[in-house]
Order: sequence, then C-alpha cells, then structure tokens
Amino acid sequence: MQNLKRNLQAVARSLPVGVTLVAVSKHHPAEAVREAYDAGQRVFGESYALELKEKHDVLPRDIEWHFIGHLQTNKVKYIIPFVSLIHSIDSVRLLNEVDRQAAVHGRVVDCLLQVHVAQEETKFGFTPEECLSVVSDIGFRQLGNVRIRGVMAMASNTDDESQISEEFRRVKKLFDTLRTSVWKGNAAFDTLSMGMSADYELAIGMGSNMVRIGSRIFGERNYLQE
Ligand SMILES: *Cc1c(COP(=O)(O)O)cnc(C)c1O
Repeated sequence: MQNLKRNLQAVARSLPVGVTLVAVSKHHPAEAVREAYDAGQRVFGESYALELKEKHDVLPRDIEWHFIGHLQTNKVKYIIPFVSLIHSIDSVRLLNEVDRQAAVHGRVVDCLLQVHVAQEETKFGFTPEECLSVVSDIGFRQLGNVRIRGVMAMASNTDDESQISEEFRRVKKLFDTLRTSVWKGNAAFDTLSMGMSADYELAIGMGSNMVRIGSRIFGERNYLQE
C-alpha cells in the first residue's frame, strides 16, 4: 500500500493529455480507494455491482464511479442511482434494462458498447458487425435514458504485441465508423475505452482516450474472478 501513491503518479504521468485514467479498484478494499483518492484520483472502475455499491456508500461523494465488468440485468438496480459510466453494455437486453432503471431514477446514464475483438471465447461483447447492426436499429435510437458515449474493448491476453495492436486497430476503426456515419460527428460520442496495465501504451498508440488500470496502481488482486 505505501507504493500506491507512487504507482498512481507514475501511471498518471505516463498518460498523454486527453487520456482519462480509470483506476480499477476491484477486489481492493475501500481503504485503498481512499488512499488513491487522497493522492488526487477521482475516477474509479469496478467490476462487481455489489462491491461497487458497498464502496460507493462509504467513500466520498465526488468520486466518479465507472462500471467495467459484465453486468447482469438483475444487478443494474444497485448501481444505477450513482454510476457515471457503464463501459460494458454487451447486449440489447442489458441496454434496455439500464434505460428502464435510469428512467425510474430520472437519470440519463452514459454507456459504452463493449466490443469483442479478443480471441478468448469468454470475453463478453458485440462483434464489430453486431455493433453496427445494433446501433442502426430504430428502437435503439429511441432509448431516452441512456446516452451512448463510445466503445470499450479488451485485447487478447497474449505477449504478441502485433496481435494486440491489430485488435485495438479494429476497435478504433469501428469507433471512427460509428462516430462519422451513425453519430454524424456528434461531440457526445467521444470515448474510446481500451488499454489495461499490460497493454495501455499500445492502446493509446492506437487512439484510446480512456485507460482502465488496476494492478499497476493497486498491485496484484487477492483473487481473480475473470
Ligand atoms: C480488471 C480489469 C481491468 C484492469 O486490469 P489490470 O490488468 O489490473 O490493469 C481493466 N478492464 C477490465 C474490463 C477489467 O475487468
């Protein structure tokens, strides 16, 4: 934990202007979040709805909480009153539920569409082709309580940098296509979330403007559920 502040500052310094750092605090205690908060960090990412709610309830109100993990529709209600950005919209059903719950709370909730480009079978998300067909659907455009801000993706967990770069390149291409041909340059469609501890430099090189970094800041997690 003594290294946390130093790690955070090193990561923050390594980011170009215009790239948002989401400090991924999943599986680390609220005290660790507080320490990063005291060092100036305000944007945190969590992967489990109940864990997020518990931390939200005990930590400062000006934290911007992002949800980055697979979100089950029956868990949406725990985070919808306060979540700032949901990175992991991976089905139309989930998007509809977020819209419905956001309406109940009188909110418009920012969301990213999760795009599946990695080779791993287990990673959630739309393929780029599905993404294009989903967003051209009329019903999708009529949801009043969600605002699609961009896309999120994870690359394959591999040492092969050319493969990782190629996956990020595909996501950037999709992002650009959506921005120009679907959102017609609408300034609110502006977020490309890609890059984790092991690959964020590559992701930024490919155009990412939001990175989600956990272990480089907080150290290894106690247990992994991915
Ligand atoms: C855990 C997680 C991260 C952070 O991973 P690190 O390798 O610890 O930086 C980023 N994005 C998602 C979706 C995650 O689940």
